[in-house]
Amino acid sequence: MKIETIAIQAGRNPDRQIGAVMPPIHLSTTFIRGNEGEYVYSRTGNPNRDALEDCLTALEGGAGAIAFSSGMAAMASIFQALKQGDHVILPDDTYFGVRELVTTMLVDWGLTYSMVDMTDLNAVDQAVQNNTKLIWIETPSNPMLKITDVAAVAEIAHAAGALCAVDGTWATPLLQRCLDLGADLVAHSTTKYLGGHSDLLGGIVVAKEDNDFLERIRKVQHIGGAAPSGFDSWLLLRGIRTLPYRMRAHCHNALKIAQFLADHPQVHTVHYPGLESHPGHAVAQKQMSDFGGMMSIQVVGGSEKAARVAASTKIFAQATSLGGVESLIEHRAPVEDENTKTPWDLLRISVGLEHADDLIEDLAQALRS
Ligand SMILES: *Cc1c(COP(=O)(O)O)cnc(C)c1O
Repeated sequence: MKIETIAIQAGRNPDRQIGAVMPPIHLSTTFIRGNEGEYVYSRTGNPNRDALEDCLTALEGGAGAIAFSSGMAAMASIFQALKQGDHVILPDDTYFGVRELVTTMLVDWGLTYSMVDMTDLNAVDQAVQNNTKLIWIETPSNPMLKITDVAAVAEIAHAAGALCAVDGTWATPLLQRCLDLGADLVAHSTTKYLGGHSDLLGGIVVAKEDNDFLERIRKVQHIGGAAPSGFDSWLLLRGIRTLPYRMRAHCHNALKIAQFLADHPQVHTVHYPGLESHPGHAVAQKQMSDFGGMMSIQVVGGSEKAARVAASTKIFAQATSLGGVESLIEHRAPVEDENTKTPWDLLRISVGLEHADDLIEDLAQALRS
């Protein structure tokens, strides 16, 4: 089945009693013993959450999915499933939440790590130790849009007897098939494109195999308890129904905007993997079916100019986050910690689904500010 069909059909369990085509929302926290679904308590299982997990398993072509109440809870579950003394390899520009989690929290529990430039496969290989249990990839990365070769890093991980997990939030299952490329696990912040409307927080882990490691992640959901509510699961599944068509329009708009900005005298660099000038373009072309709706630009005139541009847009809202139908712009470095490597003249742009001409006109007038 094609992904457009899966996105709409997977996780649909028609209600035979009432005949509702769209599923009801199950808000009940508890369930009468002996029910057909064997539901007991909503932290350990809820019909809306099950439908969501079924849909994401099918969308990624995996063997199982575990839903969480945020992207960070989902990603944390993978690290929580590791053991004391295990070693992980992270990209040096990984999402700051994942970096904070590993470098300031999990180190206290005996997890060890190395950070490398994942675009340098030799560096990844060199970082492997005999206790390396996980190599973490984020591609495209936030906010520099660095592209990591998933197949090549998965191979290094497997040769070391380690797992390979990908934060695939920016690409979505439509544009990048992480499990087919060789990864063992793919995680998404479903807050972003999967939800698609900036009105819910969520996260998901999808695994290629339903094995002991996935069982440990499931335990983090059941016992750790960062499970999404029935309402959030329902809302997320509703968003996923239109994911393939939304993503196409995000990509279409983003490429047009990237091309416009690449020629703009007030912009000295555009980080968008769809541009041939992007250092990761060839790898992106190999492993992605299109280049996504996210980009970063660096403006002429430094931090002050970047702040002015972000404050001057009329359609783009100046706000963090991404992946919604509405366009957002953010002067990124000031919101990150003091150790940030993000350039101060950088603006991160989440291209929404407004008309590309209007978005270009808005950026053009903001860049004149
Ligand atoms: C937003 C984001 C996260 C964290 O997800 P939350 O839903 O905010 O917890 C992780 N990775 C990437 C790439 C993100 O964009």
